[in-house]
Amino acid sequence: MDTNIKAWWLGHSAFRLESQNGTVIYIDPFLSQNPTTPDEFKNPDDVDIILLTHGHEDHVGDTLDIAKKTGCKVVAQVELSHLLKKHGLDEEQRIEFNKGGSVDFEDFSVTLVNANHSSSYQGDYAGEAGGLLLSFDDDIAFYHMGDTNIFSDLELYREIYRPHVVAVPMGDYYTMGPQEAAICCEMLNPDIAVPIHYGTFPVLTGDPEEFKSFTEEYSDADVKIPKAGEQFLGN
Ligand SMILES: [Zn+2]
Repeated sequence: MDTNIKAWWLGHSAFRLESQNGTVIYIDPFLSQNPTTPDEFKNPDDVDIILLTHGHEDHVGDTLDIAKKTGCKVVAQVELSHLLKKHGLDEEQRIEFNKGGSVDFEDFSVTLVNANHSSSYQGDYAGEAGGLLLSFDDDIAFYHMGDTNIFSDLELYREIYRPHVVAVPMGDYYTMGPQEAAICCEMLNPDIAVPIHYGTFPVLTGDPEEFKSFTEEYSDADVKIPKAGEQFLGN
């Protein structure tokens, strides 16, 4: 696919993206404690923006440490954002939003969309879980579904955002499994689908190869299964 956006999957739900202007974006940076993240990706120091889907530890991960070290912005749903402030996030770095709302950066915008899941942080209620829709100016739309099961709003997201790349949780147990995830891809019809949230812990038994065969049966999506740390988009 023709794009100036670069993307790496870092294991579980974590991604590193680089925009066309070189802005470095991390999504759900659960890295240092993630058993599948390669060592060279556990401790990034060149982060401009962190985007969070919800408050669970396997998503917030190293956010506060990275924010302290790099001075990056941290974008999260309102209640989670306030909790992160309570736990030490600097007000200058804090950007809150809520579902349907977008935050604009130099060469992309991010919209918080729905996800069917729960959210807490360090035992406190952290608002609602969401998905993230990144629209890069004159380039692709990248949809990180967060943790979720299937829901019918996906038909609307296809019409509104036309996502080219979708990161789909399919590990089962805490999210949907491979077959439901494949039907999400049928509804969204992206160019590329990337399975996430599997294999990190023993309970996440969803098989990415099973997801791939279901998805390629139900949709036109090309399913990429990167290794943790592997770049799967851009040059
Ligand atoms: Zn999770």
